[in-house]
Amino acid sequence: MIIAHTIEEARAAITDARSKNKTISFVPTMGALHDGHLSLLEIAKQEADFPVMSIFVNKIQFNDRNDFDRYPRNYEADCSLIEKNGCALVFLPDDASMYHDPKTFVTTESLDEYLCGAKRPGHFKGVCTVVTKLFNIIQPDIAIFGQKDIQQCAIISKMIDDLNIPVRMIIAPIKRDVNGLALSSRNALLSSDEKTRALSISRSMKGAENLLFNGERSTSIIADHMRSIIESAGRPDAIDYISIVDFSTLHPIDTINAKCIIAVAVVFGTTRLIDNMIIDFKEGIFACR
Ligand code: AMP
Repeated sequence: MIIAHTIEEARAAITDARSKNKTISFVPTMGALHDGHLSLLEIAKQEADFPVMSIFVNKIQFNDRNDFDRYPRNYEADCSLIEKNGCALVFLPDDASMYHDPKTFVTTESLDEYLCGAKRPGHFKGVCTVVTKLFNIIQPDIAIFGQKDIQQCAIISKMIDDLNIPVRMIIAPIKRDVNGLALSSRNALLSSDEKTRALSISRSMKGAENLLFNGERSTSIIADHMRSIIESAGRPDAIDYISIVDFSTLHPIDTINAKCIIAVAVVFGTTRLIDNMIIDFKEGIFACR
């Protein structure tokens, strides 16, 4: 595996792969890698000859300095893990090579008004900007993102479309641990008690699924039910949101009768976790994933 620390090194490796007619797939990450990231690498390997990952804790997408400082960093372990799993190139830039007093940013409208966009001002501007920069550096044919960050997927998909970026995006399913907790780099920051309490998130989504299965379609009733599960079993330090939004607009809906997303952000201790479920309707029958 090639390890590129600079943009020039990454570009040289990409030029070399292209000269050998290799197709390029790309998985951007912030490191502290787990099986969720590896599931994206698996797709990257299946979809192209030259799978690339980046590891970069992108300061400009953090609206909370403390959150940025305590974000887990594990570069050596990450590199050996992805090398073992067949990554061809890892791009590991530092802050100074990615940002020199930037004055140009990429933003989306409307899709960031609810969910994490409402709670983390500037977050998606930071995400869109870094993803655009990484696309310009790696120039992948295919990019793989996780459903775990569903609003990020929707925003990047729209950005690719709006800006005619020549990349095909694939959205990978959420990887969970055996108990149902969505894998996240932030799980490493949870105490064992917080981790147990965090299981209330996936339990609340199961509760929503059961209500839907029994014919309930009111989003306020479903969200209240989820809230009561999280509050009683999880005793969270804060519930940032439990929202049910239209799949395309990401704006809240009152009744579930078309494709939509149930999304949750909950704080345990000082760690904020997110999770979601897509509800798809086909001929009146729903499927959750
Ligand atoms: P991050 O390092 O958290 O920025 O995540 C990098 C990529 O991995 C993003 O596209 C995430 O959506 C994806 N990802 C994170 N956690 C999971 C998970 N549990 N299952 C699948 N993909 C994930």
